[in-house]
Amino acid sequence: MTTKDSRRVSYFYDAEVGNYHYGQGHPMKPHRVRMTHNLVVNYGLYRRMEVFRPRHVSPTTMTRFHSDDYINFLRAITPDNMQDYMRQLQRFNVGEDCPVFDGLFEFCQLYTSGSIGGAIRLNDDQADAVINWAGGLHHAKKAEASGFCYVNDCVLAILELLKKHQRVLYIDIDIHHGDGVEEAFYTTNRVMTVSFHKYGEYFPGTGDVLDIGYKEGKNYAINFPLNDGMDDESYRKIFRPVIGKVMEMFAPGAVVLQCGADSLSGDRLGCFNLSLKGHADCVEFVKGFGVPVLLLGGGGYTLRNVPRCWTYETAVMLGEDVKDELPYNDYFEYFGPDHRLHLPVSNMANLNSEQYLEKTMNQLIEVLRDVEPVPGGQIQTGQVESQLNPRGLNMEVDEPSADEKAADQHPDERVADEAMGRPQAKYDF
Ligand SMILES: [Zn+2]
Repeated sequence: MTTKDSRRVSYFYDAEVGNYHYGQGHPMKPHRVRMTHNLVVNYGLYRRMEVFRPRHVSPTTMTRFHSDDYINFLRAITPDNMQDYMRQLQRFNVGEDCPVFDGLFEFCQLYTSGSIGGAIRLNDDQADAVINWAGGLHHAKKAEASGFCYVNDCVLAILELLKKHQRVLYIDIDIHHGDGVEEAFYTTNRVMTVSFHKYGEYFPGTGDVLDIGYKEGKNYAINFPLNDGMDDESYRKIFRPVIGKVMEMFAPGAVVLQCGADSLSGDRLGCFNLSLKGHADCVEFVKGFGVPVLLLGGGGYTLRNVPRCWTYETAVMLGEDVKDELPYNDYFEYFGPDHRLHLPVSNMANLNSEQYLEKTMNQLIEVLRDVEPVPGGQIQTGQVESQLNPRGLNMEVDEPSADEKAADQHPDERVADEAMGRPQAKYDF
């Protein structure tokens, strides 16, 4: 193993995440994260990182984005009392795609704590990059579960980063549209969301190229709709120019990169044809800008491939070369018969023509041209205040109130909305 750079990388992992399982036979098994961790350890990568077990965030912290009644419901619901909550189950879209299971709320707390904890660590300048493979549950809405996602740790981590940074960039390479994050920040220019996803008769159905944000947030939502069969070369050809332009125009203070592994070749629910190298090229490219990065997991439904992907991306973030031959690990039988890190791609057709990709890319570059240039050289013009306060500052992301802090100490105590002393409009994105 050779070392290419000396970036300070922190890694958030709680072994308990492997104890929580969705319904029997459900495609998303959280122990993908435990398998990833095991590979990271057996490759020796953890020795190059600061490894953290995240401090649990309180339910009140989750209500910085989510509604109080939704979070209360997630805390209360169990497989045994579901019959008493029939109306809420329907209202909050829990029970089918997003099943109830034992420890549901603790599970949400674990992955959310890693993402918020990671954002705090970046804000404190304790790391250049933070990894939380348990996070990235990008579909959850303010008061609704969606697509296996209950609490939106991406949104909560971005809100934390906004305490320090004027502009935060969210990039989503999961095969599904990053709808929950886009919706949360659709009307603000302080967060730009960029999603590359399969579009057309595919969950969740949103993410049209023409959806570019609204009001102050106009031009700050970027969507690249794609067809089946995206391969490494095509992905690289669109990702690099689009993100390059985004970095130039938006100049974020921090980046959240959701690395859903369901865009890999052979995913059980996906339909792209990316190799590990193609997927990780996005990590490599983003890393190259030298901006603080929070790296999150997300989807990924072919169990043997997800740990490979996220382990390789951990190595890429560290600038480590890792050998293709997998080290012996606790899940060795899952990686047979070849026991190699990298996976072959398939011969499926790429239904994204060069013309389509170029046309869409140019369309998005045009949208990005309309992004207001970030203040830099203009600061000397005497209009410092107006320059440094972009439009759409309707999100208060202040320090937690005394009540919130109190609730942190007593997580079982509910604090009434009024008692928290914050207007409902705070969440009116
Ligand atoms: Zn997905």
